[in-house]
Amino acid sequence: VKRNPHEEEFHQAVREIFDSLVPVFAKHPRYREHGLLERLSEPERLIAFRVPWVDDSGRVQVNRGFRVQFNSAIGPYKGGLRFHPSVNASIIKFLGFEQVLKNSLTGQPIGGGKGGSDFDPKGKSDLEVMRFTQSFMTELYRHIGPDTDVPAGDIGVGAREIGYMYGQYKRIRGASEAGVLTGKNPLYGGSLARTEATGYGCVYFVQEMLASAGLGFAGSRVVVSGSGNVSIYAIEKAQSLGATVIACSDSSGYIHDPDGLDLAAIKRIKEAGRGRISEYVAAHPHAVYTEGCEGIWSLACDIALPCATQNEIDVEAAERLIEGGVKAVGEGANMPSTLGAIERFLQAGVLFGPAKAANAGGVAVSALEMAQNSARVSWTFEEVDTQLHRIMERIHADCMRAAEEYGYPGNLVVGANIAGFLKVADAMIAQGVV
Ligand code: NDP
Repeated sequence: VKRNPHEEEFHQAVREIFDSLVPVFAKHPRYREHGLLERLSEPERLIAFRVPWVDDSGRVQVNRGFRVQFNSAIGPYKGGLRFHPSVNASIIKFLGFEQVLKNSLTGQPIGGGKGGSDFDPKGKSDLEVMRFTQSFMTELYRHIGPDTDVPAGDIGVGAREIGYMYGQYKRIRGASEAGVLTGKNPLYGGSLARTEATGYGCVYFVQEMLASAGLGFAGSRVVVSGSGNVSIYAIEKAQSLGATVIACSDSSGYIHDPDGLDLAAIKRIKEAGRGRISEYVAAHPHAVYTEGCEGIWSLACDIALPCATQNEIDVEAAERLIEGGVKAVGEGANMPSTLGAIERFLQAGVLFGPAKAANAGGVAVSALEMAQNSARVSWTFEEVDTQLHRIMERIHADCMRAAEEYGYPGNLVVGANIAGFLKVADAMIAQGVV
């Protein structure tokens, strides 16, 4: 805390993981040596830079850009870029730290990184977004590469932003290095099923959790927060498995449609139109829109999938979900539940899928995109989706096994942290003190 003052989100992420590792140190004291924890919680590199750009009215705007290259023990740094006004060093470090163990869980050879800017794409014209992303890449390009550090999207960074960044990278480098970014449009090297991967993967993971308790999505009521990339494809997959998804949100408020959400309408509003979720009620008068996001967790449901942002479920929201009969929570977003909320879910016997396991499908398919780019091939949607499904099943099994082995049967928080940690720790020990 002294070393990283005012970095609350980063402290929260480190605390959650280190608490889980106590049984590992008890069983294998060697993991307390080699300065392992000190090295693990210190990024290899944190880059911060100025991003100047000119808005449509001719005014110069200055944002701050970040890239944290957290850990390369098992492969090149890999992790998304977030464009949101709340972005600062603490947010980027918490995301980068989580990413290290998440990427380890995927079973693929990728290290952990993360980046972004406090730029807010909301309300900006296409040309403003392009000028900003080009300026951002004009600094970032020197730090990344297909074998060094491979960014992707996150909040506020979708196919449009990745496209502009890739165009600028190519222009500076004078070479088509498709593997430098993932989440590209399939027209120029993107993987099919990458757009769907995080949301679908989260539902595949929750399917495994439910199956372990003899339950399933069919006939269940599901609440999903957010209405961005992760949320939309979590809704799509949950609906295809027979669930009724009754609510979703954006940063202004949430919609409740007890008959089940009309996903085509949500895609039109949020994906095609970049609009507000409140617009949904105009064509769906039986649905109700409520200002503010917190109320969504008061809706009675069987399964909750928080897919918007960090700390969106606090203790109070967790209590309301438990009172409403929730049986399973799968974290599509990164760290959407506070430490207190997680404790409440576990105490109440709610099946709980932590982010670093439940949302690892996105980065797993990004690694498949890197593999396709290296081999200069494109796999079909079905091939990628089948691999994604298998990866999510395996991550669930690995987390369950680790939890069992270290004395916390069924606790996927402990299981994910331990399973992710062991591989990175062994690689770091094998490579010496670097
Ligand atoms: P998007 O930008 O596509 O969507 C984010 C959604 O969450 C939007 O509906 C947005 O509302 C809402 N939101 C954002 N910030 C807040 C906030 N402070 N309060 C309430 N709602 C908010 O992002 P993604 O879907 O890509 O990412 C969502 C989460 O999933 C993030 O935590 C991200 O780190 C995580 N994630 C994403 C992956 C990916 O592949 N994209 C991979 C793994 C994790 P509005 O429209 O009003 O901005």
